[in-house]
Formats: sequence, structure tokens, C-alpha cells
Amino acid sequence: MYYMKIFSKIALYSLLWYIIFMSPIFLKPTMKTLIWGTEQWGISAHPNGDDKIENEEFPGKTLSQLWSENPELFGNTKGDRFPLLTKIIDARDDLSIQVHPDDEYAGKNENGSLGKTECWYIMDAKPGATIVIGHNAKNPDEVKSMIENREWSKFIREIPVHKGDFFFIEPGTVHAIKGGTVILETQQSSDITYRVYDYDRLQDGKLRPLHVKQSIDVITSPFVEKQPPLNSSKTVNTGLEQLVCCDLFAVWYGKIEGAMEITQDQPFMLCSVINGECELQGKKLVKGDHFILPYGCGKVTLNGNAEMIFSSI
Ligand code: ZN
Repeated sequence: MYYMKIFSKIALYSLLWYIIFMSPIFLKPTMKTLIWGTEQWGISAHPNGDDKIENEEFPGKTLSQLWSENPELFGNTKGDRFPLLTKIIDARDDLSIQVHPDDEYAGKNENGSLGKTECWYIMDAKPGATIVIGHNAKNPDEVKSMIENREWSKFIREIPVHKGDFFFIEPGTVHAIKGGTVILETQQSSDITYRVYDYDRLQDGKLRPLHVKQSIDVITSPFVEKQPPLNSSKTVNTGLEQLVCCDLFAVWYGKIEGAMEITQDQPFMLCSVINGECELQGKKLVKGDHFILPYGCGKVTLNGNAEMIFSSI
């Protein structure tokens, strides 16, 4: 009898533990309005936009708190901060021509911040839309002189962009999202951007600050176009298309037509609905909704018709 009691207690606690800690974690995105459009920080624990958790079992908690207080949800991943950030960027107008530092430069010059490797899945693009990736200078001296002499049309490498395109942007790569494009960005949890050129436009009557010295420091030259690195041994999820797998993150695209079973075999998995509608454990999800599948949650089924982007470390 005594053992039965103990046993049922253990069973009850493990069931509760399973319900609380193995459930998907839903987030309330942080919205930002900028001079050129809006950013939705869908999955973020960055101090500039630390998302609130929506699950009742974590009242009032932010993602950064969950990361430090419940490391088991993230497979006890080492690190003093949640490493990734998922954004939806709706660019009505052009973003500045910019570049990001790597971990080493940012750590040294930006108060220990992470650098920023990022990637873009193009959710929507107006006919004729373009994007800036790379530059046409042959060496660091040309980078410096083209920037200092403001030879923007010579310097900037602009290419057409279409819905469904994917770009992997390493630190040191000159880039800009241009107006008429909506993207889902998966990036390191960093907010360090060096503006090279901002089209001389004004915000509240003033020019936004440029970071010419830092930009010249970090821009890689010459620019070499590369395909995103892949790794077929990362994950056993069937039905997901791997878009990139680098040292910092892996990103997948998935299309749900009726139902899709996801095997969560990663330390944690970030999930974003980028088109359509689906349902997960009775919760309806639409474009712009995001959730995290915690460590050990096993198989989950998404029902509906939707396109999704997944990522993990
Ligand atoms: Zn960027």
C-alpha cells in the first residue's frame, strides 16, 4: 500500500512535470516601429526586446528569465544568454546599408555583445524588389575609398529578390533589405549594426548616426558569393528542408499540408508560422505566431495548411 502511494505520487509528479515542462512555449512578440517599417521580435531574449512568455505556468516571465531559471527546457545548453533571435521584418522602405561584426570584434568593442550572423527567408517581395548583398570593391583600400568618397552606386551590389529566396549573411557582409520585402530573419541574439550609408534621410529632422570607422574595420573584401552551408546529419525530421547549418544555428523550412509530425530532437527548437494557419495541441496559430519546442518534448503534430520556419542551435 505504502509503495503504491509512493508510486502514484511519482507518476503524478512526472505527469505534471511532463505537462508543464514539455509543452510548447508560446511567446508574445515585441513590436518595433522604425523609420523604414516594422520589426516583430518573435522569439527574443535580448535586453532590447525580451519577449513575455504566454504559458500560464510561467506567469510574468520573460524568455531570458526562463533561459536562466529553467535550463532543462533548453537541454541545459551552456551559455549566459539565449543564443538566437527570430524576427519578422516588414520593410516598407529601404533599410540602411549596413554590416555586422563577428563575435570577436563585438566582444572587444561592444561591451561583450555577440556578433551577428543572420539569415533571411523571403516571405514576400513586391515585383521588381531588390536586396543588397555584398559590394564591388576589390580590396580593403577600395572599400575605404569608395565609402569615404560616397561612391554608393559603384560600391553596392544589388540583386533581385523573390518570395521563397533564402540568404545567409555572415559578419562582415555589406547588406540591406530594401522596401517592398517581408522577411523572417534568424540571427544570433545581438543588436549591433554598423550603418555605412542611410540615403541621407532624416528621422525627426536629424540624420541617424553612421558607423563608418567600424564598418571599414569589419567589411570583408573582396565579397565572395557563397551558398549557405548545409549538414545532412543535423536532425532526423522528415519533411523539413534544411536551409542552412552553420556553427551557430540550423534553419529549416516546412510546409504543412493537412498534418505534419515534427520530431523534436534538438536542444530546443524555434518555430514560426510564416504563411497560412495551423493548430498545435488545440491552439490555433496564424502567420506571425511563434513558439519554442523545449528539450525532450518528443513528437508533436501540427495540423492545418501553413508554411513554417524552424531553427535550432
Ligand atoms: Zn543585418
